[in-house]
Amino acid sequence: MTCDRARTLYLAGDAGDDELAHLAACAACRDERSALDTTRSALSGRAMWLEPAPHIADQVVAMISGSPAAAVREPRRRAKAWTRLAAVAAAVVVAVGLGIATRPPAPDWEVAMPGTEAAPAATASVKGWNEEGGTRLRLNIAGLPDAPTGSVYEFWLTSDAVHVSAGTFAAAGEVELWVGVARRDYPRLWVTLEKLDEDESLSGVNVMDTGY
Ligand SMILES: [Zn+2]
Repeated sequence: MTCDRARTLYLAGDAGDDELAHLAACAACRDERSALDTTRSALSGRAMWLEPAPHIADQVVAMISGSPAAAVREPRRRAKAWTRLAAVAAAVVVAVGLGIATRPPAPDWEVAMPGTEAAPAATASVKGWNEEGGTRLRLNIAGLPDAPTGSVYEFWLTSDAVHVSAGTFAAAGEVELWVGVARRDYPRLWVTLEKLDEDESLSGVNVMDTGY
C-alpha cells in the first residue's frame, strides 16, 4: 500500500478498507488528511460540476504527491452541461492515478562520468536499472560536441580487458541504452568516439570515463 495509491483512491471516492486503514495509520497521510478532505469535497460539490476550477488538476496533483496544498478557491459559477464537466473532473482523478501508476522507479545506481582530456567540457550522469537479463541505462550528457560526420559515440562497460558495448549515440542530451550484463561485473563505464567503418572493435578516442 503506497501513499499515492491510498490518496488517489480516497480522492476518487473509491478507497476500500486497505486504503482507509493506511490513511489512518500512516503519519504522512494523516498530515495530508484535512487537505485531502477539502479537495475531495471540492471535487464532489455541486459548484465543481457546474464549472471545475482551472487549478483543480494542479491541486489534486499537489495533494497526492504530498506537496503543500493550495487553498481551494471558490469556482466561478456558470451553467454548463454538468455531465461533461463531471466527466472532466473524473478524468482528472483517473489521469492522476494513472500517472502515479506509470511513474518510473528510481534507478538502482547512479554515477558521474566526467570528460577526459579529449572532451574536457563534457559531464554526464549515468543511471542504471538492474533488470532481468541486463541493465537499462539512461545517460544525461552535457558539454559533449556532436559526433563528427562519419562517427558515433559508443558507450562501453569494462572489466579488465573485456569490453561490452551498450550502443551508440551521436549527440549530447538524454540517451537510453540497454546492455546484457550487470555493472557489478563490469564496473568501468566509458565512452569512445568511433569511426563508422568495417572495424567493429573498440578503436576510438576515449572521451568520457568513470575509471574503476
Ligand atoms: Zn501514507
